[in-house]
Amino acid sequence: MIVDVHAHHHPHAYTEALSALYPGARVGRVWPYPDTDEEAHIEARLALMETAGVGMQVLSPAAGRAPYGVDERACVDAARLVNDANAQLVERYPDKFRSFVSLPLPHIDASLSELSRGLDELGMVGVNLHISALNRSVAEDEFLPIYEEVNCRGSIIFYHPCANGICSPMITDYGLSAAVGTSLEDAVIALHLIAKRIPSRFPDVTFIIPHLGGPIPMLLERLDNQFSMKQFDLPEPPSVTARRFFYDTVAHGSHAALLCAWAAFGADHLLPGSDYPVLLAHETYERTFSWIREVDMIPAADIVKILEQTAPAVLRLGR
Ligand SMILES: [Zn+2]
Repeated sequence: MIVDVHAHHHPHAYTEALSALYPGARVGRVWPYPDTDEEAHIEARLALMETAGVGMQVLSPAAGRAPYGVDERACVDAARLVNDANAQLVERYPDKFRSFVSLPLPHIDASLSELSRGLDELGMVGVNLHISALNRSVAEDEFLPIYEEVNCRGSIIFYHPCANGICSPMITDYGLSAAVGTSLEDAVIALHLIAKRIPSRFPDVTFIIPHLGGPIPMLLERLDNQFSMKQFDLPEPPSVTARRFFYDTVAHGSHAALLCAWAAFGADHLLPGSDYPVLLAHETYERTFSWIREVDMIPAADIVKILEQTAPAVLRLGR
C-alpha cells in the first residue's frame, strides 16, 4: 500500500486557534477541498485515499502554519488542539491514519512536554518541525534539546516549510514564497543540519525532508567541492550526510526532479507524499502518485520501493 507521509489536516478548532498566533493572516479555510474535521470532509478524504490506492496518511498540521509564536500559552493551546484532533482521527481509523506530533515552538520546555505527550500518550509516529520558528532555523542551538529527546527515542523528524521566503525580500517581494521559497527552505534545512553536524551528533534520529529536498539532489557534487568541511568541522562530505536523509516525492509531477532525486539518493530514501490538500488545486489525489509509475528511466522494482516499501519501513509500521 501507499503510505502518504505528507498530508495536512485542518481541524476547525485549530484553524481558529491559529488566528491568535498569526494576527491579520488569512488562516480560515483556504482550500475548497476536504481537509477539515467535518464528518463529510473525513469521508471524502477517505474516498480520495481509496481511489488513489493510498492505504494510510501520516497527518501534519497546516501547511505553512505551525503552532509557533511569541505567546507560549497560545502556542501550547494550538499544539494541543491539533495533536488531539489528529489523535482522535487516528484512534477512529487506526488502519488509515498516523500522525506527527506538533510542538509549540520556540518554547522548548513546553515543546518537550508536548513531544512526550504526543509520542507516549497519543501514540504518534514522530515529530513535525517547521523549518523555522520566529524566523530562526530549527537547526540552531536553542532547538538542540528537541533533537536530544528525539534521538533518545530513536524517532522521526518530518520537516515542513513555513512559506516565509527564507526571510528574503528577493523571494517575498516577487511573490515566490510558495512557488520557489518552500523548495529553498527544504534545501536550507538540509544544509543547516549538515553544517551543524546534527545527524552525526544525533545518529538515532530519522530525518524526512519534503519536496525531494528542493534543489539538494542536483547540488551534491557541488556541495562536496564548495561547502567547506574544514570550516564546519564536518565528519564526512556533505553529499554523504545528505544521503542519510529521507525525502518525500512531492514534485508537482516533475519526472526530471524525481529522476534526479532517485539518482542522487536512491529509491530507499524516497517516500510517497502528496502535500494534501495543496496539490488538489492542480491534479487529482490519484495523479499525485500515479505519475511516479510513468518515470520510464526508474526501474520497476525501484518504483515499487518508492511507492510501497520505503515508507512502511521508515515508519516501522507493522512492528
Ligand atoms: Zn505540506
